[in-house]
Amino acid sequence: MRPTGKLHLGHYHGVLKNWVKLQHEYECFFFVADWHALTTNYDDPSRIEESVWDMVIDWLAAGVNPGSSTMFIQSKVPEHAELHLLLSMITPLGWLERVPTYKDQQEKLREKDLATYGFLGYPLLQSADILMYRAGRVPVGADQVSHVEITREVARRFNHIYGREPGFEEHAESAIVKMGKKNAKLYRALKKRYQEEGDLEALETARALLKEQQNISLGDRERLYGYIEGGGKVILPEPQPLLTPESKMPGLDGLKMSKSYHNTIGLREEPDSVAQKIRTMQTDPQRVRLTDPGEPEKCPVWGLHEVYSDEDTKQWVQKGCRSAGIGCLECKKPVIDAIVEEQRPLHERAAEYESSPDLVRSIIEEGCERARDAARDTLEEVREAMGLSYR
Ligand code: SF4
Repeated sequence: MRPTGKLHLGHYHGVLKNWVKLQHEYECFFFVADWHALTTNYDDPSRIEESVWDMVIDWLAAGVNPGSSTMFIQSKVPEHAELHLLLSMITPLGWLERVPTYKDQQEKLREKDLATYGFLGYPLLQSADILMYRAGRVPVGADQVSHVEITREVARRFNHIYGREPGFEEHAESAIVKMGKKNAKLYRALKKRYQEEGDLEALETARALLKEQQNISLGDRERLYGYIEGGGKVILPEPQPLLTPESKMPGLDGLKMSKSYHNTIGLREEPDSVAQKIRTMQTDPQRVRLTDPGEPEKCPVWGLHEVYSDEDTKQWVQKGCRSAGIGCLECKKPVIDAIVEEQRPLHERAAEYESSPDLVRSIIEEGCERARDAARDTLEEVREAMGLSYR
């Protein structure tokens, strides 16, 4: 998660509650992506440090447990930068230019100059972040699936250049069949010539032959490139996305809760401020007076009832609103109470950590050490595979 400011209840319901669950089901690595914060905020790094520690405390307050997961800061594990650099050597520029968020974000953040090398490469930095821990699953929202996809392509390419996947032969053989009889026969003959006689011309011809094939996927093409030259083991396993259900948490205006919409309630917002924000929320515009009936579906407060209220309360709202039997302030009260109640343990846990910054630092230090151990193992293999493990 990028440290770009204090977290809000949208993050809590959308991401953190899921992490708290995942940490008991998988071995989890959660990290503060401070380098990623620089890809769009490179011109103003002044808030990064404060945001990093605020965010770590938000995680701890939400129940992310350093005993059940590894929590660390990206820039404290510099191996991420090395893997990013090494992967950049084999990543075609077109793959990065095609990532949907590249153009989208440039459009959305027009006031910033994002025609930078770092911004183009940030999905590859993410790939390094993922592949570093040989992650099996990456918890992402639907909009981030393309980033996991490019990570899979990078891993596949790496393995085909420097290693080999399980079942490689079978996959390669069925890919050959897909090229059609004539091309398959030619490919096999060229492969034999190259492998038995070291004929480089045969290798070149086989590569050109693969390039013009329309019937095989990118993955198959990579496989067949590797198959001509023999192979090895899987060094960087391909991760799968683990889709996080979309957060239903609405903001104060009924739209998705998001900092850019200025409609948030902070994860650790003070109870008075929560009450104040909700009391001043817009309601159904038809309810000008207390005696005017309203329609919950047209009121942003209803969205919050859907998240926080039980069936009885929801029926009380529906009936009371449509019959003008309850006032809007009365209707908002159970929502205020539920949010304040939800935040109570978060405030308590956060207070503990806020009063002992050394404890927070040592949790992160330990996490960074654990992450570095795993990262060193991966990099050792990567360096060896790339011929860089000499003294
Ligand atoms: S009574 Fe509740 S649901 Fe109806 S308009 Fe007022 S705040 Fe909205």
